[in-house]
Amino acid sequence: MFEIAIIGGGPSAACVVAAMAYRIAPEIPINVTVFEPGPNLWRGRVFQPDGDEVLANVPMEDMSAVAWDPEHGVRWFHENGLGDLAADTTVPRRHQVGRYLEDTAEQAIAAMRAAGSNVEIRTSTVTSLEMDEGKFWTHGDDWKAGSFDQVVLCLGATPSYDHYKLSSSAGYIADAYPLREALIDVPEQASVGIVGSGLTAIDVVMGLRARGHRGPITLGSRNGHLPSVRQRPARHKLQHLTVRRIEEVTAANGGLSFDDVVELAKAELVAVGTSIAKIAADFSCTTPAVTRLRNDLVRAMEDRDPGWPVLRDGMVACGQDAWYLLSDADKMRVRAWHQTLMRHCCPMPPANAALLLNMFHSGQLAITGGVRSILPRSTGGFDIDAERPAVVDVVISASTPAKHEIPPAARPLVASMESQGLVAAHPFGGVRVDRITSRLVSRRGVADSKLHALGDLTNGAYLFTFGMPVLAARADCIAMDIAATMGLFPKRS
Ligand SMILES: Cc1cc2nc3c(=O)[nH]c(=O)nc-3n(C[C@H](O)[C@H](O)[C@H](O)COP(=O)(O)OP(=O)(O)OC[C@H]3O[C@@H](n4cnc5c(N)ncnc54)[C@H](O)[C@@H]3O)c2cc1C
Repeated sequence: MFEIAIIGGGPSAACVVAAMAYRIAPEIPINVTVFEPGPNLWRGRVFQPDGDEVLANVPMEDMSAVAWDPEHGVRWFHENGLGDLAADTTVPRRHQVGRYLEDTAEQAIAAMRAAGSNVEIRTSTVTSLEMDEGKFWTHGDDWKAGSFDQVVLCLGATPSYDHYKLSSSAGYIADAYPLREALIDVPEQASVGIVGSGLTAIDVVMGLRARGHRGPITLGSRNGHLPSVRQRPARHKLQHLTVRRIEEVTAANGGLSFDDVVELAKAELVAVGTSIAKIAADFSCTTPAVTRLRNDLVRAMEDRDPGWPVLRDGMVACGQDAWYLLSDADKMRVRAWHQTLMRHCCPMPPANAALLLNMFHSGQLAITGGVRSILPRSTGGFDIDAERPAVVDVVISASTPAKHEIPPAARPLVASMESQGLVAAHPFGGVRVDRITSRLVSRRGVADSKLHALGDLTNGAYLFTFGMPVLAARADCIAMDIAATMGLFPKRS
């Protein structure tokens, strides 16, 4: 039987398994082996069991794990008594999304087994991959498995990052998830510094708040920005920010420039009648973070302007392809705007924004940019040297590395593949992949039809590698490409 290995068993792998059950298993039986050493099979780090205060940042209607059925997630919520959390005006708890992912993968596996396929889950870390006579062998510390015809890498992102080298300091919490374990020993009156001011940092604030924390909390990051607040969905059929238009412009101009993408974005904004000047103003806005949060919350509740929701939809629809096709020089231009883009493309839910705002107003919560250093004090606690310096008892890491890194658990595996020329490092991070199929591109520049990657490992190639809609869409492309390799479908161009 055709043998497929999926390495990593988080949400990306759940999407791949569901896509294989839909695209391949009804046609031909296959053997699938999923390697996942951690306790959060299918849920990964983000959707693991945790407190009710840990909210998804995206409404359920945008989190279907299967690309061919956008209603799949919403339907599951209704069928499982959670219909009130499936509306577009609310967001579910992340552990509930985790249950949905688990159930989706388990149902896919049951369907595959019913159709004659086998699925095995191995709780092992893969430390190397070897190719021998056209087949792959996975290796761990004292085991070897194979042979595999196909391998899909779903290795995830670096879980947490120790910017200030505090890992051996008492009072430092290196990993915020699950919050219900990470925060258990934080004294109620302690002053807490959180490294970062993005979505993970907001989760930590919500976790402390839910535990009745009474001490002061400082969010500290390099830029001192908070994510924007999610506005209502736009309900607009994209006409310009589509893969087809990106490909047409690329063909017509002999390449794609940043200015081409800006023109497509402007055309899309004009099509929905929004003000381009308003969007442009967001890129040059220097309003302090808390005032901006208040403005963003008002905008989310009262302003029906579809500008950012449309651009966010466009990012999901064609952001990966647009980034892929840009020249390196234009990629650097986008990078200069990366923080602003991410602020608006990955907004927080209004419910969290309202709670944050109350905490800022009460004086319990503060935010500072320009963090230069965080040093342990000889008497205990930490000095935060920043625009607004602080002395805190506890520091919690909630930040990502400035430059994407391969997660520690995956480094030996990726290094082994690199040493054999099976993968090549992408100059912007992660590894090189083919744009349409996500096939790994070898050192010799050949896209290998037997090796695919999904998720953060492709961040240099695609830039936008996170979020269920992006993962589900790419997982489907990968399953279709594997099906095509097996002769089940005509190959896509
Ligand atoms: C704070 C935060 C909030 C988010 N909120 C949302 C949201 O509300 N909605 C949304 O759609 N998206 C959200 N996202 C993004 C989304 O969750 C991620 O895109 C997704 O969780 C990534 O899943 P993954 O499977 O690629 O990675 P992971 O969940 O990291 O899984 C990778 C798995 O690979 C395994 N692994 C690694 N190396 C090896 C190896 N060598 N051998 C075997 N196994 C290995 C690991 O054990 C791990 O379980 C959020 C992200 C963050 C950080």
